[in-house]
Amino acid sequence: MLARDVIASVPTDMWLGGVQTPSASGARFAVLDPATGEELTTVADATAADGITALDQAAAAQSEWAATPPRVRAEILRRAFDLLHARADEFSLLMTLEMGKSLAESRGEVNYGGEFLRWFSEEAVRIGGRFTSAPAGNGAILVTKSPVGPVLAITPWNFPLAMGTRKIGPALAAGCTVIVKPAEDTPLTMLLLGQVFADAGLPRGVLSILPTSDAGAVTGPLMKDPRLRKVTFTGSTEVGKLLVRGAADRLLRTSMELGGNAPFIVFDDADIDAAVDGAMLAKMRNGGEACTAANRLYVANSVREEFTTKLTARIEALTVGPGEQDGTDIGPLVNDKQRRSVAALVDDAVAKGARVRTGGTTLGGSGFFYAPTVLDQIPDDAQLLRAEIFGPVAAIVGFDTEDEAIAAANDTEYGLVAYFFTENLDRTLRVSAALDTGMVGVNRGAISDAAAPFGGVKESGFGREGGSEGIEEYLETKYIALR
Ligand code: ADP
Repeated sequence: MLARDVIASVPTDMWLGGVQTPSASGARFAVLDPATGEELTTVADATAADGITALDQAAAAQSEWAATPPRVRAEILRRAFDLLHARADEFSLLMTLEMGKSLAESRGEVNYGGEFLRWFSEEAVRIGGRFTSAPAGNGAILVTKSPVGPVLAITPWNFPLAMGTRKIGPALAAGCTVIVKPAEDTPLTMLLLGQVFADAGLPRGVLSILPTSDAGAVTGPLMKDPRLRKVTFTGSTEVGKLLVRGAADRLLRTSMELGGNAPFIVFDDADIDAAVDGAMLAKMRNGGEACTAANRLYVANSVREEFTTKLTARIEALTVGPGEQDGTDIGPLVNDKQRRSVAALVDDAVAKGARVRTGGTTLGGSGFFYAPTVLDQIPDDAQLLRAEIFGPVAAIVGFDTEDEAIAAANDTEYGLVAYFFTENLDRTLRVSAALDTGMVGVNRGAISDAAAPFGGVKESGFGREGGSEGIEEYLETKYIALR
């Protein structure tokens, strides 16, 4: 499959209630290839008026979609899953072209992102309630679940497919209509998914996809409109706070998957080779551009040099290049701003005394490449211990005791995920309990699973995506008191 054929097959207008429509203003904006900095194509640039038209349609379709039998909703989601897989090569190449990740990573995301469609097709028919007798014997308690109503989903660029399907899957399964605002860097994957839903037979009005170069201008008026009932967001903590403030005026239901600063702890009793494998996944998956990426590697001093040497050898061996090129392990960063941010964090750490074991530099030529990097001897005041790196940079810090490692791991305003490696069961249970995060990975470097509740605590947000918990975010609970 050729890049130009894939680009030519992507619908580039908005999906307004499931129909390809140019923006009201006629404006379009460019989508770039981060491997070259060149334009791939242009897409419709939705306006505030387009947002309101999408909500008109979502509100009009809401009651009929809610009343559509769960089995029918499930089968549409299942057809979308099958159609996505039938076009897996196209989706993979498209994602690589607009986001930069390697083709292997994109294929992995098609599988992972698709799972949310399959999982929630299975959950759609299991939305339950309950019936119990009142303890006083004077009646009965009937609890029912109903869809919350029209949903606004705002998604980031790092997983252009999966961050959308994790919201669209449960929302449609629950019986909600949805307006998606994809990230401006990567709208193409979501626009192609719009085609999949149209082909899967999703009724008109139920799903809109609105790319825009001015997110706030489109989402602001939607959040003020009384017909919108919920906003679900994945992105930075900074924008998440802005959205929660905006949601407060109307007490909109919100789900927030925000930033992370994941600790990755290697205890002295760990299987070091397994820990190195885990670190490669936790750090280098998606080029480090993941909120679950290991941001701080805490390694017991007694095994630190062995771990660091082995990890450095593995990271040095990575091939950096355009994602679609055979043999590429690490593609470019998504844009120049992101690359500058990674470079600034590395430069700050090095200026304060960190040692560069490999990498540490921006790579020349066109495209937004940064060398896979290992730093050790990181000083306490280095900014990269506090901020999300979002790039292929492993920062290694030594520790002596378990208590010291736990205290360091928890010393952050974030609380998304933590990883640790140990061969000791008591330690596994003790440390899992002590870590202040929504998720913990034990002896593994990747934890995401459509069947598990993904989400954070503290400033990493609230709400869960996936698992049996995921659909609850899109359901209201009603208590009916019976005599
Ligand atoms: P990142 O740092 O990963 O780019 P952002 O939080 O900036 O994360 O972006 C995530 C998503 O939020 C994108 O779709 C972006 O367009 C959107 N976004 C950014 N600013 C706003 C805003 N003020 N209101 C609504 N959406 C926004």
